[in-house]
Amino acid sequence: MRCIFCKQDSSSSRSVEHIMPESIGSKRRVLPRGVVCDKCNNYFAREIEGPVLSHPSMRNIRAWHQVPNKRGKIPALQGNIGGTDIAVGFRRGRDGKLEIEPEKQRNQEHVTAEWKAGLPNGFIFIVDMAPPKREMSRFLCKMAMETVAELLTHNEGGTEAMVDESYFDNIRTYVRYGNNLTEWPYSQRRIYPDTTLMRHPDTKKWVPVGFGCTVFSTKRFETLFVFCLYGIEFVLNVGGPSIRGYEEWLEDHGYISPMVERLGCRLVTEGEGKSQRHYLHGDFNLQNGFAFDERHGYRP
Ligand SMILES: [Zn+2]
Repeated sequence: MRCIFCKQDSSSSRSVEHIMPESIGSKRRVLPRGVVCDKCNNYFAREIEGPVLSHPSMRNIRAWHQVPNKRGKIPALQGNIGGTDIAVGFRRGRDGKLEIEPEKQRNQEHVTAEWKAGLPNGFIFIVDMAPPKREMSRFLCKMAMETVAELLTHNEGGTEAMVDESYFDNIRTYVRYGNNLTEWPYSQRRIYPDTTLMRHPDTKKWVPVGFGCTVFSTKRFETLFVFCLYGIEFVLNVGGPSIRGYEEWLEDHGYISPMVERLGCRLVTEGEGKSQRHYLHGDFNLQNGFAFDERHGYRP
């Protein structure tokens, strides 16, 4: 068996590659051993996932939404009060209220007892995704390659065909070595509020819409990759560094999202003002998405 990134023998590799990192809460989407070798797996954790997920904007997203890393730790919320930078550790109680953990603060002297009741007025923090572009594009390209590999594991010959396929050489070199291009362009936009809820596939309870990813096709028969994280949609082209095909796709389909309406979901808003709530109805069925592509003649 050979690795889809470095093409080296990976028969003795032990690690299991998570397509989306565990540190955003993803546990399920993993590739069989050897699809990605140990060396590449370590490289991605250190050079690609690490810099993206530890970036202050991403740490605040994880803190705000209470997403533990794989060691079970939730990062502190980084912000500023009266000109002083503070990192605030907190937990969200069952009722949704914030419980500050004063003993866990950096710059503790600024965190007073009344903070326990919640974040005080005047504490300014940003919950907005602004990861460094190059690292983010390599992070997305890595997930794109692995999402394609995940689909191919169902075929005979599996991911082996991907190793020798020159179509993937540009993107795999960019992910693994990063020396063939300075940047792989991607599209980034907000498609629903970060407080939007969906029904959990197993428990059927309403939970925040966290993350998801899939691939889809265009009229140019390009393979595009889409990744969503708390309402921010990222899209790139697996076949080359251009998102022109996606811009066309958006124009042709009235700016719907390949991760929402294409999968048979829709955004429903209830109430007004402060009591406004957002829900995604539907079950994110990937088969709906492939049926959508076929219906439009996007698959050869
Ligand atoms: Zn490798």
